[in-house]
Amino acid sequence: MSDELRAEVALGCRILGREDQGDFVWGHVSARDPQGRGVWMKASTLGFEEIGPDNVILVGWDGEVLEGEGRRHAEFPIHTELMRARKDVTSVVHTHAPWAVAFASTEQPLRPLSHEGTLFVPPDVARFTKTGDLILTRELGEDLAAAVGDRNAAFMVHHGIVTCGPDVTTSVMTAVLLERACRTQLRAIAGGGPKTWSSDEEALAKRDHCYPPQLLRQAWDYLARRLDAER
Ligand SMILES: [Zn+2]
Repeated sequence: MSDELRAEVALGCRILGREDQGDFVWGHVSARDPQGRGVWMKASTLGFEEIGPDNVILVGWDGEVLEGEGRRHAEFPIHTELMRARKDVTSVVHTHAPWAVAFASTEQPLRPLSHEGTLFVPPDVARFTKTGDLILTRELGEDLAAAVGDRNAAFMVHHGIVTCGPDVTTSVMTAVLLERACRTQLRAIAGGGPKTWSSDEEALAKRDHCYPPQLLRQAWDYLARRLDAER
């Protein structure tokens, strides 16, 4: 079971690397340990595209490395505290997604200009603004989890993004789609600013039509095949 999870977390890392969400060796993907011991998480000092199953380690709820070789990331409380707060969350992603960081600094609401935005709005994306610094303590992890609330994502303003879901596929694809939604809106801003977007009603219908679990899985499988083809 843990072998499967480690492989899934590792593949999620490589997908995020290929989607330009890596920031040298920073950013991470995690999955809840089925035995409740903590989270299986990417090890530090490596870039997303370098991660294989052996680079995914079990980090306990207080940050101790319980299994696997490698150092843990200092920002592990992003993962442990979101999962402690949300029983429905089984996987968390944190990246320094460059388009999302740039977009969040504009303080403009994210609009459903394209399909991607409808996964998040309405209502507008949650924002964590308490600090743009690293999430190094349990307290900051709890504050971040409170900012996410029951949502699937939040901007960590001046820092990055956090996304979560019931499985690794969902949390990773949510991060991929949030970054794309921000890129689309920044392009529209560069073109004079968006004038129209989907109504709330249309956006909510599109969320159901475009991004049910089986379609997120199809997109994930495609991205995995693309990585294989490039090897
Ligand atoms: Zn970070």
